[in-house]
Amino acid sequence: METIRRTKIVDLLKREDFGAMVNVKGWVRTRRGSKQVNFIALNDGSTINNVQIVVDLANFDEELLKLITTGACLSVNGELVKSVGSGQAAEIQAREIEVLGTCDNTYPLQKKGHSMEFLREIAHLRPRTNTFGAVFRIRHNMAIAIHKFFHERGFFYFHTPLITASDCEGAGQMFQVTTMNLYDLKKDENGSIIYDNDFFGKQASLTVSGQLEGELAATALGAIYTFGPTFRAENSNTPRHLAEFWMIEPEVAFNDINDNMDLAEEFIKYCVQWALDNCYDDVKFLNDMFDKGLIDRLQGVLKESFVRLPYTEGIKILEEAVANGHKFEFPVYWGVDLASEHERFLVEEHFKRPVILTDYPKEIKAFYMKQNEDGKTVRAMDVLFPKIGEIIGGSEREADYDKLLTRIQELNIPMKDMWWYLDTRKYGSCPHSGFGLGFERLLLFVTGMANIRDVIPFPRTPRNAEF
Ligand code: ATP
Ligand code: MN
Repeated sequence: METIRRTKIVDLLKREDFGAMVNVKGWVRTRRGSKQVNFIALNDGSTINNVQIVVDLANFDEELLKLITTGACLSVNGELVKSVGSGQAAEIQAREIEVLGTCDNTYPLQKKGHSMEFLREIAHLRPRTNTFGAVFRIRHNMAIAIHKFFHERGFFYFHTPLITASDCEGAGQMFQVTTMNLYDLKKDENGSIIYDNDFFGKQASLTVSGQLEGELAATALGAIYTFGPTFRAENSNTPRHLAEFWMIEPEVAFNDINDNMDLAEEFIKYCVQWALDNCYDDVKFLNDMFDKGLIDRLQGVLKESFVRLPYTEGIKILEEAVANGHKFEFPVYWGVDLASEHERFLVEEHFKRPVILTDYPKEIKAFYMKQNEDGKTVRAMDVLFPKIGEIIGGSEREADYDKLLTRIQELNIPMKDMWWYLDTRKYGSCPHSGFGLGFERLLLFVTGMANIRDVIPFPRTPRNAEF
């Protein structure tokens, strides 16, 4: 076969130099046609769109043609021609075809319309479907948007460790990391495991958040963000929780909670706008195939400013709804940790736009949040989104050494884990704030997918770590 430089299909479909000889490589999505002419829809992953290959059967060997089946990988040389019927501006009149990889009829993606559950069982092949191609291209684009947003605003990308020896945040939710022989654990007279000979000489785990180290950086570099994997061994089999997910955590010196809310709102809007500007074909595909309201919802979020409401006011609204006959599965009262159904009621039914709930009871929030004067609430902020519920959790941090220490003691957090964190308050303490955005929750929103397992290539959930 003649050697011609390969063109990616995304670029090829924009070309107008009809008559040129081109080469494309990709996988057969469909093949149809008559006894004289066949049409192959070829996709190479660079775009949701296929290029149509027109094959005059008389010009090709019968044995070769038999190998052109759904899923087979082809290299095609041919003439770029203006298309009339393919739905695209250009198509290829095939001159030479090489089958790079054959694909027999055991290929599980023979026809369209598989359930999402089935596709999860073949997660090694599902990127070859239109849906997952779209989702993973959007995932890439969102990651780029995130780095661009922070870089343009002078934030530094800071790498916090994935292995940590402090469990102050995630008690009970952490995956332990050890090189000890689990069949032969050394214990002391109380039956506690002795970690002296473990790899780190003490108990270690995978991180549940980079925030505490992020604060060390923010109080030195001014404004930082993290963007990396996070691990939570929470046994909650929901459509919104993964055991391994990616989190973005900006942390900014001198920001108070209002600045923090401004940053969160600007950030999410930037990402949503980016998806519409840079992934329109993929978003439109998902809109048309799965979720007819998707594009409207994305545009809706951009138009309106987010409601900002104290938790206490939110509870009043929910209690009124209950008094008026609305049925929730879980009870509503001041002090409750809101369930997703409560969050979605506020967003989808009451306000009909995103809501930032602030000033939560201190008992249901982390020890490091700034305490309000009322002695009951802390300067927390959760951003609540339609269809998702909580997409961001954040706060202004307690900057006062004594108040922070008192809270740590009240909660019995071991001081041996906290001395380095407290040093930020001891030496040149400053007001500062930050938040965590779950990357896959953002992707749920932007793709319209219903289950978080379908926006990460290889989901890790309770009892599932396949591939
Ligand atoms: P939730 O109440 O939904 O479990 P959380 O209060 O535990 O969330 P934070 O600890 O505030 O969440 O984490 C910050 C963000 O990380 C959340 O707003 C959410 O977007 C995301 N997140 C938290 N847990 C998970 C998870 N298990 N899988 C995917 N994303 C998560
Ligand atoms: Mn949680």
